[in-house]
Order: sequence, then C-alpha cells, then structure tokens
Amino acid sequence: MRASRFLLPTAKEAPADATVASHVLMMRAGMIRRVAAGIYTILPLGLRVLRKVEHIVREELDRVGCLEVTMPMVIPAELWEESGRWEFYGPELLRVKDRKGGDFCLGPTHEEVITTLAASEIKSYRQLPLNLYQVQTKFRDEIRPRFGLMRGREFVMKDAYSFDLDPDGARESYWQMHEAYSRIFARCGVTFAPVEADTGNIGGSLSHEFQVIADTGEDALATCTNCGYAANVEKAQVAGPPLAGLTSAGARQTVSTPNVGTIADVSALMGVDPKQFIKALVFETEEEPVMALMRGDRDLNEPKLRVLLGVDDLRPATPETILRVAGAPAGFIGPVGIEGTRIIADHEVLALSEAVCGANAVDEHLKGVVPGRDFTAEAADLRIAEEGDACGRCGDSTLSLRRGIEVGHIFYLGTKYSEAMKATVLDTNGKATPLEMGCYGIGIGRTAAACIEQNHDENGICWPVPLAPFEVHLLALGKQDEVLDACTALYDQLQDAGLDVLFDDRPERPGFKFKDAELVGMPWRVALGKRGLESGMVEVMERASGERFDVASDELVSFLSERIVPARRGDLA
Ligand code: ATP
Ligand code: MG
Repeated sequence: MRASRFLLPTAKEAPADATVASHVLMMRAGMIRRVAAGIYTILPLGLRVLRKVEHIVREELDRVGCLEVTMPMVIPAELWEESGRWEFYGPELLRVKDRKGGDFCLGPTHEEVITTLAASEIKSYRQLPLNLYQVQTKFRDEIRPRFGLMRGREFVMKDAYSFDLDPDGARESYWQMHEAYSRIFARCGVTFAPVEADTGNIGGSLSHEFQVIADTGEDALATCTNCGYAANVEKAQVAGPPLAGLTSAGARQTVSTPNVGTIADVSALMGVDPKQFIKALVFETEEEPVMALMRGDRDLNEPKLRVLLGVDDLRPATPETILRVAGAPAGFIGPVGIEGTRIIADHEVLALSEAVCGANAVDEHLKGVVPGRDFTAEAADLRIAEEGDACGRCGDSTLSLRRGIEVGHIFYLGTKYSEAMKATVLDTNGKATPLEMGCYGIGIGRTAAACIEQNHDENGICWPVPLAPFEVHLLALGKQDEVLDACTALYDQLQDAGLDVLFDDRPERPGFKFKDAELVGMPWRVALGKRGLESGMVEVMERASGERFDVASDELVSFLSERIVPARRGDLA
C-alpha cells in the first residue's frame, strides 16, 4: 500500500476523553474516529488490525470444527421474553420499535437467537456436538463507555455457542474452546492468562475469562504462585483463618452508642479495633432477605454471595426491610437474636473470639459477642481477595493481585436457555432432552486495544507482527526520482515475497516520516535515501527493540522474511 493513496490522518494530540494509551494511540494513529459516546468509525488502518484478529479467531475456531453463521443484529422482543431476559437485562439492552409498534432490541449477545435456531434445526443426538459462531456487531448501552474500542456501546464480538447431548459432552466442548482460546491469544502475541470467573447474569456454573495482563485493566485478578490458581477477584477463593476457641470468652454486654452508627465512629468511641467488629449487611433477593456478616475492616464481595445463594438478583435492602429483619436501622444491627432470616458469615467473622456488633436496638451495640455462643451462622468465603491472602485452593502460599483486560469469556451454560426456549433433542433412547449449551465470546476491538496497551512506548505503538496493520514500513527519504525508483523496486520485491508493506512515498520531510512511522508502529521500518543509494545499504529498524541493522539492498527480502514469517504465529511460533 502506498501511503500517498492511503487514509492516514495521524495527529500529535489526542482528544481529552482519551485517557488510556490504546485509546490515545488509536486516535493519534488515525485508526478510529468517534461518532458518539462508545460508537466509532473504524478507519483503514484500524480495520486492518481488526481483520487480523478476526482471521486468527476464524482459523482457530474452524480448526476445532466450529461453523460460522451470521445472526441478525435486530432481534424481536418475543425471543427475549421467552428466555425471561426482556425484563431482566436492564438498560444495557437497547430497545427499539418498528413502524408497526413491534418491540425489538439490538443484540447485546445472541443466546436467544441461536437457541431458537437450535430448537428448530437440531433434532437428533446424531447432529451433536455442534458449535456455531459469528463475528458480528453487538450493541450494549454501557453505562460508562470509555477507553475507545475497549468499552464501546457498539462493538464487534465473536460469539460462539456449543450444543451437546449431555453435561460430559458439554464440558468436553468447553475445554476444547478453552484450548482454542489459548491458541488464539497466543497467536495474537499478547501476554494473557485464563482465570476462573464469576458467571454473571448469563448463568451457568463453569466459566473462564481470558485476561490480557495490563496495569490499565478494569479487572483485578488473583493468582497463587504456589498452585497456579488464577481467578477474577470477584470470585477468587480466600482460605479462612482457623476458628477461635471459646475459652477466654467473658460475658456479653450492651454499650450505649448514641447517634454513632459507623464502624469507624463506634470503634473510636469504644477504643476497639475495627478488626474486632462484625459488620452486618442485609440484602434483598428475588427470594427472602439474607444477612451477611463481615469483619469490620473487610468488604463484602457481592458476586460471591450471589453465587452462594444461587440468585440472579441481589441488592442492598431498603431501610424498611432492614427494620423488619433486625428491628433497628442499619448501623445498629447484628446477628444476635435474629430469627427467621438466613445469616451467612465470612470465615473471619467466625474466627473472632470476642466481637463488637450492633445490638438490633437504636443507639446500642454489643461487646463480648462470641460467635457460636451468641449466634450461629453459615460459614462462607465472602471476602474480596487482597494481596497476600492465603490461597483458597491450596491453602498454602499467598495470593498476588494483578490487573487485566478481559478479552474473552467462556461459559458452560447447561440447560438454562434450552429449557426456557424448548430446545430439545432426541437422545439415544428416542427421549426428548434439553440441549446442553456453552457460550463463548471474544471482543475483537478490545483485543486490538489490549494489544496496544501491552505494546507501546512514548512515541507510539509497537505492533507485534501477528496484529500489525502492515509488517514493513518502507520510507523513501527524499523526493528525487532515483530514490523513489529504488524504493519502488524494493516495495515490489517485498510485496512479491508476500510481506505486507506500507510504502511512505509521500513528498514529506524524513523527520515527519520517521515520526509517523514510530506512531503507527509497524514492526519493521526500512529507510532508504540518497546516501543509502550510493552505498547499496538500507537502514532497517525493529520498532519494539529499537535495534538497527544495515542491510545490503539485495539481501533485504531474505533478512525481513526470516524474521517476519515465523513471527506471524505469535507466541505459538
Ligand atoms: P465486561 O465485564 O468487560 O463488561 P462482559 O462480561 O460483559 O465484559 P461478555 O458478555 O462475556 O463480556 O462478552 C464477551 C467479550 O466481549 C468480552 O470478553 C469482551 O472482550 C467483549 N466485550 C464485552 N463488552 C464490551 C464492550 N462494551 N466493548 C468492547 N468489547 C466488549
Ligand atoms: Mg459487560
């Protein structure tokens, strides 16, 4: 591609809303332009990167036998009513009406459409296993679209759905996709980790996120250096401390704490460390309210509680509900004397030998409270994992925390959708049984953005070969005919060798071209001017390392091919 014919609107500055490196650099390199919040036009340079991600995704999915389809973006409400998500999905679902007043939504994900297809087309176990995927535009009316393609409202996702006869088969399909995803991200040339994940409101029980490790990531990950356990912090298991003995326990006392309801204030008033407090939190669910207990200095991890309760909906209770459950307002409540409400305590609470908590009476707290003696509760791990916590998997060692960008997510769904939408299949005995499903997503634009987060410096992007929009950036230094002719000859040779080349043949100054080349970040830069013409040597630079090589012009093709062709397989090379 000749730069003189290409649309390459590079810029020195990025707009103020661009705060992370990938967003800044995609704007500055002329890859994307904002149309509305979270909605972008993808320019030619950006599209070349997205196409490379998609190509890798398609190759690896086709390799394991997935079949590509395309589903509509506009979906009739009936399908979502059938699955029960029309109500449940909330304001992220963009709902629209057609001219007849019919309700539709823009697909944020496609379980409903694919399950409808499966219900009509999969009749017999002989058609299984089946895995269908698409690469398609999704719409989610994200509350906080930001970071460019990283969290858009309109974005391209690869979504796949597996269908199996039984749970064993479904798990096999799941692990096959886990393997395919690992190959995809290794081929993209990003440093990533699969981590155990919360299953969110899609439902199901087995789930992994593929996280690109980056400080700017929105997700926190916990990993154990001893056993290799890795999980999103929303889910990461923490080992509980040993239970305390009852031996030193004294009598329980009521303490007057007028108008003092926060742990910090009560702690100051009583001169007791917040670690000795029991914090009681009441939640409402679609079933009965529950009380959760945390140590005073800890935060509750709501997804853990939601999974434990097996509910989809969990929200802090209203003041009325708290009053009904505990007989006192928030700030003065505790587990002692609660009847008829399920109480779940974090392990650390049950390990306290003597504690302070609300007395379930206005302006009163209790001290000398002994778990097990003064109240009973179900024990559970409800904490948000912190750096240095004991690993909940091996009990040993300590967890360390890192940040990541979720580029892929896989779920084992079971029969949640197939039951709701009556997608059954005849099993080997001719009996109708609901299909076992899995679903699998990859954010195409987010993967490209995550790759930039990991591969850039103060001057611009440093594309790894597999996702680079072009592999070689050839710069003609000077406007003289002999320079342009020599560069054109090199350009032809490199293209004939199957390399992807951007040829900067624009009548611009060398300094300008070098700056642009650093910004757009092709992995190999080749520069030829008058001086090189005389010596027969071209200057080659590797963008990521900054290493320079003087290469004889007639050896350029082999020099670059040897380095680029194997690198096209990323970390699988
Ligand atoms: P997040 O927690 O980041 O909102 P999610 O759990 O909602 O992600 P999934 O429903 O699992 O995401 O979607 C599959 C993949 O689609 C994600 O792993 C991510 O790569 C991509 N994705 C999700 N939301 C967006 C978005 N708003 N913009 C760009 N990509 C997205
Ligand atoms: Mg989301």
